[in-house]
Amino acid sequence: MTDVKPYLSAADIAARVRALGDRISSDYAGGSIVVVPVLKGSFVFAADLVRAITVPVEIDFLAVRSYEGTESSGVVRLTHDLDRSIEGRDVLLVEDIVDTGLTIDYLLGNLATRRPRSLRVAALLHKPARTKVVVPIDYLGFEIDDVFVVGYGLDDDRGGRRHLPYIGALEPAALDPGARVR
Ligand code: 5GP
Repeated sequence: MTDVKPYLSAADIAARVRALGDRISSDYAGGSIVVVPVLKGSFVFAADLVRAITVPVEIDFLAVRSYEGTESSGVVRLTHDLDRSIEGRDVLLVEDIVDTGLTIDYLLGNLATRRPRSLRVAALLHKPARTKVVVPIDYLGFEIDDVFVVGYGLDDDRGGRRHLPYIGALEPAALDPGARVR
C-alpha cells in the first residue's frame, strides 16, 4: 500500500506487548484483573496483551465515540457500557492511543464513580505533542510523533487497513477529513 509508511513493526510491537504483560503480571501477582478494552481500536492490542498476562483475567468492553471531523470535539460519548459491576475490582483500562487525553480522562472519571478497588491504564501509543489533558498511563507501549497511524486493529474509517499486523503512518496526502472519526 503506497500511502502507508511502516512505523512500528509487528516484531517490535510483539516484544513491547510481552514486556507490558510481564510488568502487569508481576504488579497484580496474587490477584485478578478486569481488563476493559476501549472499542474498537484497541481490540487487537487487548487480545495480544491479555495473552501476555499470567494472572487471572476477566474481560469487559467499553465503546466510546470521541471525534467529530478531524479534531477532537472534546465531547466523549459512551456508546457501549460494561456488562458487569467493577465495584471492588482491580480494573485495567486498555486504550490503543492516547492522543489529546480527553477520552481516557472522561473514562477514568466515569469508571471511578463505580468504586473499583484500583483503576489503571494501559495504552499502546501516546502522542505527547497533542496532549490537552494530562492523564496517567501506567503501562505504555510507545511514545510516537504527531502522525496518524493505522494497522494493528487501529481505527481506519474506510481505509481497510485495520488487519495489518504492523503499524503504519499515513502520509499527509493520504489523510482524509474523516480519518479521525472513531
Ligand atoms: P483522545 O481522546 O486521546 O484525543 O483520542 C484517543 C482516540 O482517538 C484513540 O483511542 C483513537 O481511537 C483515536 N486516534 C487518535 N490518534 C489516532 C491515530 O493516529 N490513528 C488512529 N487510527 N486513531 C487515532
